[in-house]
Amino acid sequence: MNYQRPKGTNDILPGESEKWQFIEETARLLFGDYQYQEIRTPIFEHYEVIARSVGDTTDIVSKEMYDFYDKGDRHVTLRPEGTAPIVRSYVENKLFGPEFKKPYKVYYTGPMFRYERPQKGRLRQFHQIGVEAFGSENPSLDVETMVMAMDFFKQLGIRHIRLVINTLGDKETRANYRHALIDYLESHEAALSEDSKRRLHENPLRVLDSKDKKDQPIVQGAPSILDYLTDTANTHFETVKKTLDHLGVAYEIDHRMVRGLDYYNHTIFEIMSDAPGMGAQTTICGGGRYDGLVEELGGPAIPGVGFAMGIERILLTLDQEGVIVPSAVNLDAYVVGIGEATNMEVLKIVQAIRGFGYSADRDFMQRKTKAQFKSADKQGAQLVLTLGEDELSQGKINVKSMKSHKEKTFSLEELYQDFNEIYDEMLTFIIE
Ligand code: ATP
Ligand code: MG
Repeated sequence: MNYQRPKGTNDILPGESEKWQFIEETARLLFGDYQYQEIRTPIFEHYEVIARSVGDTTDIVSKEMYDFYDKGDRHVTLRPEGTAPIVRSYVENKLFGPEFKKPYKVYYTGPMFRYERPQKGRLRQFHQIGVEAFGSENPSLDVETMVMAMDFFKQLGIRHIRLVINTLGDKETRANYRHALIDYLESHEAALSEDSKRRLHENPLRVLDSKDKKDQPIVQGAPSILDYLTDTANTHFETVKKTLDHLGVAYEIDHRMVRGLDYYNHTIFEIMSDAPGMGAQTTICGGGRYDGLVEELGGPAIPGVGFAMGIERILLTLDQEGVIVPSAVNLDAYVVGIGEATNMEVLKIVQAIRGFGYSADRDFMQRKTKAQFKSADKQGAQLVLTLGEDELSQGKINVKSMKSHKEKTFSLEELYQDFNEIYDEMLTFIIE
């Protein structure tokens, strides 16, 4: 029997989940400002959707898929990333139709699954927040996407980040570059890792993405794709760079960056964390253009651009940068009940307070009065209401403000009818 969570997965417990909510809420608000709307697609997809989009020879598809045959013998897989499912959905739901806004902008958040070697910042079930924008080739949209991601990290309080960009050009660019790269790699074939020897002929660009130490010196000497750009590809990339300059956004160019998914073309980018203690996993966001993908999945020729960021890595970055996540937990009122006889009324009182839109709590553990006050204090209650058996029989309740220490007795009738007034009266002391 194994009653432990599967390797490479995490339980996200209270205390930690508030941080997740903070990240997700920040994204929701910010992406909303950029006119992105949320999309939710299934956790699993037909294998073909992913294999076709991400690419058969990528590590994701060839090694990391959580795929299986279901009881109807359909080949399905847990989704390893968000873009392919969304493109599938975009085509299937004809979201390119004239009734939809262009560019069509969506964001998503949720778990992704890859059979990887778990380590710090690398899990088998991890979580991404991502965006996709369909329908425009305008390089300004590439840049808007990048600066939105940068904005997002800034809003979270993350400081030490770096934007790295590259281009993979158009089809012709890659065809020309592919030849040059194969020529170069063949001359170093003997020294390459086994994986890269295989990649060399299947998909030579993948060699540039190799994490194998053996391949590193060879990759360092590889020809640059920037020397093979067609006029169209060059113009697009130049415009992206100029636009970034125009907005005053700092960036680096890494001509060896290829990203781990085959669907990209033109602009690609990564955002790296420079916070110390991140380990080997410093990429917190990756994205780019995928102009052929909608067509690849059976739709019209519609361009797309997007990014995905890893929530676990963002959390690591927040930790490393010492960012304190604002606590979402608050308690307006704690109701202390003294004596068995108050049990039922105390529940009615907390329910009434909640009915007025405030947060409220009470004791359920038969704690002594003193311990109940302690709980109220520990939970940071603004007001503590105390109901003893005497008060109950007189229809009264004692209310104390923990901020001002003001104390007053109200009738239960008042509380049930106008708790908001009691709340306001008891807490006005704070404003001086
Ligand atoms: P890496 O090069 O680190 O493997 P990747 O290129 O495979 O990343 P993408 O597929 O572009 O990553 O995913 C975007 C982001 O999702 C990454 O930048 C990272 O923050 C996060 N991510 C990817 N794989 C994992 C994983 N196994 N565990 C945790 N986060 C991940
Ligand atoms: Mg990867």
